[in-house]
This record gives sequence, structure tokens and C-alpha cells, in this order.
Amino acid sequence: MLRPLPILQHPDPVLAMVCEPVTTFGFWLRGLAEHMLYTINPECASATMCNDYNRAQGWPVQNYRIGVGLAAPQVGETINLVVIAAPGFPEFAMVNPILEKHKGWKAGNESCLSLMAAHGDVLRYTEITVSYQNLEGKLCRICAKDYQARVIQHEMDHLMGIEFTDRIEEQNPIAWTKLARDLVNRPEPLVLRNQQC
Ligand SMILES: [Zn+2]
Repeated sequence: MLRPLPILQHPDPVLAMVCEPVTTFGFWLRGLAEHMLYTINPECASATMCNDYNRAQGWPVQNYRIGVGLAAPQVGETINLVVIAAPGFPEFAMVNPILEKHKGWKAGNESCLSLMAAHGDVLRYTEITVSYQNLEGKLCRICAKDYQARVIQHEMDHLMGIEFTDRIEEQNPIAWTKLARDLVNRPEPLVLRNQQC
């Protein structure tokens, strides 16, 4: 039975770690990917939690799902695995992704399930080609544009221990909200209220 996984919250040190390549493909990896996809699924009660939070802040409510991607380190596994559930793609997992080509730049608003109360504009490539392995270990390649490319780059950053707030700081300090600054400077990890379905 699928259950939502607890999502580590900034500044948990695991979120700053560089992940290891995946070398073993099999039941465990597939199970982890399926649980990660379930964790960002709208049927999960944590969707209600996130939507309530965003509504209280006056921010956009993502009714269709709580997240469009999740990286393994966000659930405590420091391996090169991300799941993507961005509009326009079927849900899928990327193992050992490598950015092969990129084109263009654009700023766009981002937030993160590991730092839910922060959001800000981040520059990302507008077109990317990424090679990766699927859950069976087969080599695949995907071309993505605009929002889908943004989601993939955000999740791939997690595998390098980079949070989107790191890029806001280096690229555009003005984009920081006061709330984001306060949260990033908090000494203790934030705790989610309820992860159960
Ligand atoms: Zn994130």
C-alpha cells in the first residue's frame, strides 16, 4: 500500500548533500519512485495541508497536486533519482539525469516542498535536453521546454544539494521575500503538521 513519505524541510543537512549515482535497479528503486509520486499526488492528505497553507498566505493554490516534482534527497535518500509530474508529461522517474544541452534563459517563480513558505524568481534554461536512465536502467533522453524544463532543472538541482533559494540569492537578491529570508535563516527545520493520508 502506498503511503506519503515525510518530506525533509530546510535547513535539514541532507538537502545540502551531493547525491550518489544509482547503480542497482530493481524492486526497491521502483518502490521508492512510486512512493515519491504518491507523496505529491492530490489524493494524499498532505495536498490539503499544502493548499491550506498557501491559501492562508494568499498564494496560488495548486489544486491538482501538491507538487510537480520531487527529488530523492527530499525524502532522505541521497541518490540520483527524481520524479516528475509536470503538466504535459506523463508521470515519470529520472535516474542519474545529466543535462546535455540547453538554450535560452528565463526567470520564473518557484517554490519547493522542502521550503513551502518561500517562493521567488529563479533564472532557468528555457530548453533542455537531459539524458537519464529509467527505473529499469534503460538509457533515455528527453527534450523539455519552459515550465517542464524548469521543473526538471529544479529537481536536478536537489541532487547537487542546491535549493532554489540558493539560486535566488546568487542571481536576483531583490526577488527574495522577507518571509523567505526569515525562513531560510531559521535555525531549526520546519516540521510538517501531518503526513498521513
Ligand atoms: Zn524543491
